[in-house]
Amino acid sequence: MDPNEARKRLLAERLQGKKSANGPILTLKPRPEGETAHLSPSQLRIWLLQEANLKSPLFNVVNSHWFTGTLDLTILENSVRKILSRHPLLCATHRETKQGIEVIPQPESQFHIEHFLLTQKEALDKALASANKSFDLRNEIPLRLLIFENTDSDRSIIQLITHDLVFDKWSLGIFWKEISLLYSNPNSKLASLPVGYFDFSVWQKKHLESSDYKKQKETWIERLESAPSPLEIPGDLSLKSAPSSKGQVSKLTIDSNLTRGLRELAISQDTSLSTCLLAAFKVFLFRLTRENDIVIGSPIANRKFPELSSLIGFFLSTVALRTSLDGKLSFQDFLARVDKTMTHALQNQDILFDDLVRTLNPNRAPGQHPLFSSMFIFQGEREARPLIDIPGHTFEMTYLLPEVSKVDLSFFATERNQSLELLFEYRSDKFSPEIIEGWLHNLKNLLEDLTVHPKRSLSHLNLLSNAEQKKLLPPLPLYSNAPNILESISHAVQNSPDKAAIDGSVTLTYRELWEQSTLLAAELHRRGFRHQVIALLIPREAAAIVAILGILRSGNCYLPLDPDSPPKRLSTLLELSSADAILSQGKLANRFPNSLPTLDLSQTFKPGPLPEQPKEDDVAYLIFTSGSTGTPKPVSISHRNLAISTSARATYYSKPPERFLLLSALIFDSSVAGIFWTLTTGGTLYPLPIQIQQDPTALTHFIKEHRISHTLGLPSLAQVLLEDSEEEDLSSLQTLIVAGEPCPAELARLHHHKIPDGELFNEYGPTEATVWATAHKVSPHDNPVPIGHPISCLRAFPVDPEGQLVPVGMIGELAISGPTLSIGYLGQPELTNQKFTSIKLNNETTRIYRTGDLVRTTPSGELIYLGRSDNQIKIRGFRIELGEIESLLISHPQVRQALVAADTQLHAFIVSSEPLSAEDLHFFLAKKLPDYMI
Ligand code: AMP
Ligand code: MG
Repeated sequence: MDPNEARKRLLAERLQGKKSANGPILTLKPRPEGETAHLSPSQLRIWLLQEANLKSPLFNVVNSHWFTGTLDLTILENSVRKILSRHPLLCATHRETKQGIEVIPQPESQFHIEHFLLTQKEALDKALASANKSFDLRNEIPLRLLIFENTDSDRSIIQLITHDLVFDKWSLGIFWKEISLLYSNPNSKLASLPVGYFDFSVWQKKHLESSDYKKQKETWIERLESAPSPLEIPGDLSLKSAPSSKGQVSKLTIDSNLTRGLRELAISQDTSLSTCLLAAFKVFLFRLTRENDIVIGSPIANRKFPELSSLIGFFLSTVALRTSLDGKLSFQDFLARVDKTMTHALQNQDILFDDLVRTLNPNRAPGQHPLFSSMFIFQGEREARPLIDIPGHTFEMTYLLPEVSKVDLSFFATERNQSLELLFEYRSDKFSPEIIEGWLHNLKNLLEDLTVHPKRSLSHLNLLSNAEQKKLLPPLPLYSNAPNILESISHAVQNSPDKAAIDGSVTLTYRELWEQSTLLAAELHRRGFRHQVIALLIPREAAAIVAILGILRSGNCYLPLDPDSPPKRLSTLLELSSADAILSQGKLANRFPNSLPTLDLSQTFKPGPLPEQPKEDDVAYLIFTSGSTGTPKPVSISHRNLAISTSARATYYSKPPERFLLLSALIFDSSVAGIFWTLTTGGTLYPLPIQIQQDPTALTHFIKEHRISHTLGLPSLAQVLLEDSEEEDLSSLQTLIVAGEPCPAELARLHHHKIPDGELFNEYGPTEATVWATAHKVSPHDNPVPIGHPISCLRAFPVDPEGQLVPVGMIGELAISGPTLSIGYLGQPELTNQKFTSIKLNNETTRIYRTGDLVRTTPSGELIYLGRSDNQIKIRGFRIELGEIESLLISHPQVRQALVAADTQLHAFIVSSEPLSAEDLHFFLAKKLPDYMI
């Protein structure tokens, strides 16, 4: 039957009232013979994208099968040629003209099968290489067929490679069906086609002007106008340049039971399996990103006219499926929402993605797909396994796909007999295979949970099986006791009384340090101070160390304050901490007009009796956290906290601090690390003299002169130190620890270069968990530099807002549990209850501290620091919403980066140890001060 005849018949049927079940009658007119064909509007998008990436195999459609027996290549080649003449768009080249992209027919005889005789290994390599080879659409027909006959196996490979421009998934079924028929019976006649693809092109161009199309488009604009920018799916690999489209896949098959469960759930909710899987994928992305407005791209067959059902061509519509979520919603209710989204898409599937994007004109970053960063592709049984049916041979489909990914993450769900195959296709320069494999399992867990508990809320559906939870949280080693810190120091005194405990500008031996602190302790005891807060207003020098030991030995707790703070701030802090006395020295001691009793350390104290050694639960020190909110909070640290935190250093670090340079001011708890680690292990402490702390050259000189072996400081300080020194200056530094801020990758390289024999460590920890909680030995190529594994005495793991453990690779707030957790903030029970909470882990109730720091875990269990989660700074993959900032503390390079990214004209670099008011911030923003530092 000629095409016109077929079309007439179809029309006649329709006129008699035989309605199409799927859609209206298509008023396609076959083009007059010989008229030039142009690409359809749908194809144009593919054309332009391919032109922009000429060498990219991104649009290759690859379909490969293993087969047995030997195929007759002549018959096969002739069969393909017949298909080329039936579907002429497969046998054409293209050129650009004023009227559009012209399709230039080529003789079918141009087509040849590519045949290879290779070993199986060679064949697989070659097939993969051919899948990755792009088409030159101007000079080449967009179809290749390759046969790899294997010399060392009885199976061969048949590989079809064509192009999105002319071939959608549906076409695959048609192609193999026709090949099967023509090959098996070379004389068979295929039913003629009523219309051709080029007729559809003409129709589609006209249709774009129709009111029907415009109405459809309006509904899409309404839905997508205010859509958020594409979802920021956090990758675990650092992008060295703009994202490329290099991709990989990871797959997993779910069994027939779960598949049946999903089908039954879909039926009971009056929706389809594919909608159910789409909804699950949306929930998964919600849990992954915590974004509650999720747009996912999806191809729709768009073959609603029956005339098109036997045509090879590109008909697909890409639609952006947007649904809002709420963690409290039940899956069942959410499914109903997604079903509505899907129904709308199916009813309005004529939409041309490009046309919509042009109208919406969304913000986009270079290399970013517009509107969405993830896609969902469901393949029903029929599309999934195009049957090649040639008697005498068996065929089995296999993946030999081009290594590409159109978006960050695509979820393919494919029906296979009674089960489902789940596949993630992902950008391989953004995600590691380990992360994606883990996520695929998390998605499977989610599917399992939602089939059993469809009424469960989206926030509470399980992403982790019990076994996985256990694996993420190894049991806590019992660290309930460590020797009291004073006992350990007294051992050092006994072992080496004449060794310098403190050196640098003032030298004190262990014996002298001990004796002087004994006198102070006796004085405090004599005055009746016990379990009281003694404010320490002495700068970082030998006397301050004597004072700390004296206070601890008298059974009191020390509260370090900065002697240079303005009087008003000092009185606030004294009040907030209910300080009972002030301990200062010399002239300083008279500077504090306060009603509190004041002791002057430069006085001579008389010997006297000492109280008993403090108990484990006695408070050792109070330190104010800088916090980011502006309200100072005094953190209460007990002797047990301090002893365990300090003894964990001996477990972690292989080299004890022989000569430790104390850089930190005493008001920061990083000073605690150096003081107690050094004194409990018999090393020598070198407090950095105040007068040289601003002078990098003098600092370098100090390190060289005293052959400093260990130090701990901010990475920004370490950076300056390393930059300003020669290799031999720092050769004594065996152990350099950075803490308090993210460690830049650049520092790792610089350290390796300047101190090749030294070790660099990145320590992380809030004051509330006694100085440190995680640590990482930095290697020169770390990028980003992790904050590492939890230290031996505690657990540190990311949780979601519901306090549930977060799977590997997903962002969560770092929670810490263990015996070094503070009992809380002095005098602030409400705040304490808010930050120190209990959660259920593996069925046991565990007290945790929520740090407010965003992290994720790498597949090897290391933690990566991502930023703060305070409401002042909203970090979405390091983007900052400036509108919402009221006050903030900016000291993290990531935040700095985020600020720069938020406004390309802004290059402010603000380092602040004090909260910044909104006014200040606006000042900086308005001025756009370069490298502003406070
Ligand atoms: P503080 O309680 O004053 O010692 O401050 C602790 C906070 O400093 C943490 O909650 C983090 O936000 C930040 N911090 C400490 N160490 C690191 C580190 N190694 N990397 C990134 N941030 C850090
Ligand atoms: Mg700290």
